Amino acid sequence: MSERIIIVGAGLGGLSAALAVRQAGHDVLVIERASHFSDSAGAGITITAPGMAAMDALGLRRQIHAASAPAPSTPLIHYATGEMFYNRAVPNLEDGEQEGPHRFIPRVTHRADLHALLNDACLDAGVDILTDASVIGYEQDRGGVTALLADGRRLDGDVLIGADGLRSKVRAQMIGDAEPNHTGAVAWRALVPVELVEDLLGGMDIAIHFGPTAHFMRYLVRNRTMLNCVGLVRTDAQARDGWATPSTVEELTGELAGWHHGLIDIIERIPEGMLFKWPLLDRDPLDNWVDGRVALLGDAAHAMLPYYGIGATIAMEDGVVLGRAMALEPDPLLALQTYQRSRLLRANSALLASRRLGEIYMGGSALDVITQPALMDWNIYAYDPGTVPLVQAGSHAETGEV
Ligand SMILES: Cc1cc2nc3c(=O)[nH]c(=O)nc-3n(C[C@H](O)[C@H](O)[C@H](O)COP(=O)(O)OP(=O)(O)OC[C@H]3O[C@@H](n4cnc5c(N)ncnc54)[C@H](O)[C@@H]3O)c2cc1C
Repeated sequence: MSERIIIVGAGLGGLSAALAVRQAGHDVLVIERASHFSDSAGAGITITAPGMAAMDALGLRRQIHAASAPAPSTPLIHYATGEMFYNRAVPNLEDGEQEGPHRFIPRVTHRADLHALLNDACLDAGVDILTDASVIGYEQDRGGVTALLADGRRLDGDVLIGADGLRSKVRAQMIGDAEPNHTGAVAWRALVPVELVEDLLGGMDIAIHFGPTAHFMRYLVRNRTMLNCVGLVRTDAQARDGWATPSTVEELTGELAGWHHGLIDIIERIPEGMLFKWPLLDRDPLDNWVDGRVALLGDAAHAMLPYYGIGATIAMEDGVVLGRAMALEPDPLLALQTYQRSRLLRANSALLASRRLGEIYMGGSALDVITQPALMDWNIYAYDPGTVPLVQAGSHAETGEV
């Protein structure tokens, strides 16, 4: 039977879930507080191999290939000498048509392009997207669930998915936990027209400048017309939550004293008004993210640090697995339990692995990951949400319903 599924939040997680659940045959309404794309869309994003598998499962492989560039390996540049000292490739990569968990090559793109692609696919599939509508909570009973909007509207459905990000209102009601964890690290980001920096890139479309307590990733997006820069730095610098605290070239270069001019020169070409910073936050793992007819997804369920570049991938995986659970299990309460059982371990492992890698990267021993590859959990990239076996829920006893 077709259910009406309400998804709160049209981020990468919410839209992936919307498409997957729609493809499973349900009616879907997405409620988004912004009037258009979220402000985080002004940056690049890495889609790791499992993220590419998620796109494949959603039927969007051709579209994402057209909107992104492959990143099969990443040269690492020594922070002090400016020399490439390592070319890091995700191990065991095979080409896209092979079987197995490593069958997809990671890709990089502009967030807005990935977002637009998912948004268009949702609209084409018949998903309703309501913008300018902020959810403040939910009510539920044995017959259904209601999304409560800030403007007083009440929207009814059979299931509600909280995909409303790090500061999720749905999570706040369900879990009631405190502030996210501050980690003492800040991300700086900029998108720079390529003609301003082309002569400084050393012919590398992608690279990470790697130092003891900071690393700075840069890659070309939008058909090599823009350079995406993201620097993760351990610092006392303050930044507001969100993606849009303005910063200056002087502030960032001040954090990178002793770094080779090869990177500093690039940073100094970032035009005024194009450099932003935000604090790196995560949340503690949960052992439950379902409350009857309501479930959390993406950062709302498991906000993690970006050291593996995998947070959005995990959110998209959630969406694909939720769709599969809803296709498999006609009872929506059991479907949510199946979704949770199938995803908790994977998402929480990624969250904790990201935290551990952050401690290594920001703790002064980042360069150790080169000499001791075991410090990195490469298995994190060996997952396919389209084929991973689902862990089916047993009975209504698990849903809390009698
Ligand atoms: C510096 C940095 C770099 C990163 N780089 C990568 C990377 O390269 N690769 C990767 O995979 N991940 C990366 N991530 C992680 C990734 O950005 C997140 O994990 C991902 O965006 C989470 O998606 P989401 O849909 O769960 O949440 P969000 O993207 O936060 O989307 C939530 C949506 O919900 C909406 N919303 C919020 N509250 C409400 C409400 N009350 N009512 C209605 N709508 C609401 C918001 O407007 C938003 O559209 C990075 C993160 C950081 C901080």
